[in-house]
Parts: sequence; structure tokens; C-alpha cells
Amino acid sequence: MRLIARAMSQIQTPQAIRGTQDIFGADAEAFAFVVETFERVRKLYRFRRAEMPVFEKTAVFSRSLGETTDVVSKEMYSFEDRGGESLTLRPEFTAGLARAYLTNGWQQYAPVKVATHGPLFRYERPQKGRYRQFHQLDAEVIGAAEPQADVELLVMADQLLKELGIADGVTLQLNTLGDAESREAWRTALIDYFRAVKGDLSEESQDRLERNPLRILDSKDPRDRPFTADAPKIDAFLSAEAQDFFGKVTAGLDAAGVAWTRAPALVRGLDYYRHTAFEFVTDRLGAQGTVLGGGRYDGLIETLGGPHTPAVGWAAGVERLAMLVGEKGEANADVAVIPLGEAAETVCLAITAALRRDGLSVDMGFRGNMKKRMSRANDSGASYAVIVGENELADSMALVRNLSTGVQTAQPLALFGKVPLSLMDGMTLSGPLEPGQSMVGDVLLNSQDEN
Ligand code: ATP
Ligand code: MG
Repeated sequence: MRLIARAMSQIQTPQAIRGTQDIFGADAEAFAFVVETFERVRKLYRFRRAEMPVFEKTAVFSRSLGETTDVVSKEMYSFEDRGGESLTLRPEFTAGLARAYLTNGWQQYAPVKVATHGPLFRYERPQKGRYRQFHQLDAEVIGAAEPQADVELLVMADQLLKELGIADGVTLQLNTLGDAESREAWRTALIDYFRAVKGDLSEESQDRLERNPLRILDSKDPRDRPFTADAPKIDAFLSAEAQDFFGKVTAGLDAAGVAWTRAPALVRGLDYYRHTAFEFVTDRLGAQGTVLGGGRYDGLIETLGGPHTPAVGWAAGVERLAMLVGEKGEANADVAVIPLGEAAETVCLAITAALRRDGLSVDMGFRGNMKKRMSRANDSGASYAVIVGENELADSMALVRNLSTGVQTAQPLALFGKVPLSLMDGMTLSGPLEPGQSMVGDVLLNSQDEN
């Protein structure tokens, strides 16, 4: 016995993995509110649901995101499975969605508007608003080259933030990266510009200089700031088509009443972006101020071996949106059902089931003495208590108590599930009903008689 006790005391409870979160209560309600609001809004915009696997072959991400990106070079959770295949936990949605589009022949629906949400995994340095497992909302339009698709996505993002009640203090920063040629010319100019001041840049930016110079513009390091501000702007390199495209996007936003700010240094981390690039940012979340980001990725599907397929999309961090929403109260129950004594419990289970089928939220007390159960019901914030004690049971009745007015009446058990609780509230019957009597009619009649 002693030996067992000693062995047990040595069992350590495993800790959660660094950078993961357990979310509960008011925080979990805020999280759910974000997801539910997204689900509602995406239906208004007629985006269809898609579900993709949480893991894919590593090539899905390494090819489409580009080997030089932060995500692929240092953030992916990749592993070999037992069959020796290299797999990766998805670090973002777009690549997997593009793979699914190709392997399932979703071209037949093009242009296809799809929305999804769920967990993603990146090996990052955990801090507030930055986790190793986090969650995104994601919306994409695949197979559309028209600027209207960009506009629709941006208007939807704007409405989402408004319906979440967090639009104040969040601004839409908008840029264009031009078409492939404009982007390449800009890239070359940036390399020339930054090469001249290379020694004064942060180590990370020096490292990015040849690989991914656009990303230097995105640097948060104060040593890079003086140089990024004066760096060449994309506008000098935009082709007429690229200018026209951007003009249509901004005109669409203006027509839909979406406020935006031009952010000439805004780039997206991933190589595949073209034309429209955007972020919704706030200063209310410290360094992790980007809540939603996206843009047009006309080159992505080709990197996966598909035909040229223009597409545009965005992703939003659920945790960051939920932080802006703040704690969300858990709703009170509509009804607290209280059985007093064992015999009443069966009847109360039936009442509880009937009320829930009626669409009411119900808590049934099953612990503690009568006083405890009553005070818990009073404290619960429920609108009604339904109480069944021995006397009520004998009469096939239950007490319906309006917890805000304190008015309490006895009601026949047979009424539950047939007559809404709100109609029973405060209604006095002349006496217990006989079995088989027309309950609804009788009650309505009685109640009118008394008024
Ligand atoms: P950041 O510059 O903050 O690293 P990113 O460019 O890597 O962002 P995206 O890949 O565009 O981010 O993802 C879209 C959104 O997902 C971000 O705007 C953010 O709200 C959220 N997000 C990204 N990475 C994380 C993370 N590690 N933890 C929590 N949310 C994240
Ligand atoms: Mg990142």
C-alpha cells in the first residue's frame, strides 16, 4: 500500500504545451461570439462553408508560401509520420484551400466564395496575442480576377468588425503591390536602396535584403524605421493596368461606405500576393495590432501545379478579435427547475425536457437541500423557477414562480410543453384539471375570465 501511495505522489500532471491556451467562461463566450458573428455575416455575403484537414503534406505549404518566408523557414510544425511522409500542421488556410480546390475540382464552381475557421499552428515566440496554436476566420474568393471580389471581401471584413462592436479604433490600411512586373521592379529598387544602408539595418532586415526585401518595410525594429520611411514606393512602378485595378477597388470601397487609409509601405509576408494588400489594425492590442489581413494571390494556385487562377482572401485572428470584444457574460438560464425530494425528480426531468424542447434554456438543480436549491435558483438570474415538492406531486401540479415579480402560482404538470411558460406566469386556475381535458383552451378561457 505504501509503495503505491509513494508511486502515486510522483505522478506529475502534464502541463499544456507552451503557446497553447485553455479558454473558458467569459473568454470562451467572447471567442464563440466572434465565430458565430463570422458565420452569420459570411452567410449574408453568400460565402460557402469548407472544411479542410488540419494537416497536409509539407509541400502544400513550402511550395505555395515560399521557402524564404518566416512561416516556412521557421514557424512550421513539420514531422514525419509512421509511413515516413513529411506532414505539416497547417500554419494558414489559404494553401490547404487551394490544394482542396485543385484536388476536388472545385473549378466547376468558380468563382467560388468560401469561408472557414479553425485552429492553426506556428512555432512562434508566445506573447499576448501571439500563440503556437491560434485560430483564424478565413474568407476567400477563388477564380475571380475582378476587383469586385476584392471589394466584396473588404466590405464583408468591415461589416464583421462593426457587428462585433469593435470597429472603433480599427482602421483599414490598404495598399497595392501591383502586378508581377510592377512588383518585381519595386523589389529590385528596394534591394538597391537598402543595400546602400545595409550596415545600419537590423540583423533580421540584413538577412531579408536579398531574399525578401519587401518584408523589411514591415519591420518593427526601430533601427530600420528611418530607412523604411524613405524607401521607394510602389506607386512609381505601377503599370497602367495595376493602377486601374487599384482605382476600382478604392472606388468600390467608397461606394459601399467603407473607410480606408492608403498605406504605401504595407506588404504581406507571403510571396504570392499581387495587387490588393490590406490589414485592419488597431493600437489597442500593443505590438500584436493586426487583427485581419489579406490580399490578392493570383500566383498561388500555379505554385501547386494548377492552372492560372486569380484569387483573393483574408484571415483574421480569432483570439485578437476576442480580446477586442472583451469578456462576454454568460447568459442566464430562462428557467431553474427545482425538484424537492427524490420522487419529484422524475417529474422535473420531464418538465425540464419539455421546456428545453420549447426553446427555453433550463438548469435543473440536483444537489443540496431545499434551501440551497432555492437560493441557488434565486441567485442564478433565471427568469422563472419551477418547483415540485411532495404536495405538488400529489396534485400533479408544479409551482411556477416569476423570480422578478415573486408571483407564484400552481400549474398542472400536463401543461408543460403545451402552453408557454410565459402564459402560465401568474395565471390562477380554478382547480386541478381533469385528465383528458382540453388544457390549452381551458387555460386561455380561465385567464380571460379573470381579467
Ligand atoms: P504577424 O505580423 O502578427 O505575425 P502575420 O502576417 O503572420 O501576422 P497572417 O499570416 O496574415 O499574420 O494571419 C492573419 C491574422 O492571424 C493576423 O492578422 C493575426 O490576427 C492572426 N495571427 C497570425 N499569427 C498569429 C499567432 N501566432 N497567434 C495569434 N494570432 C495570429
Ligand atoms: Mg507572423
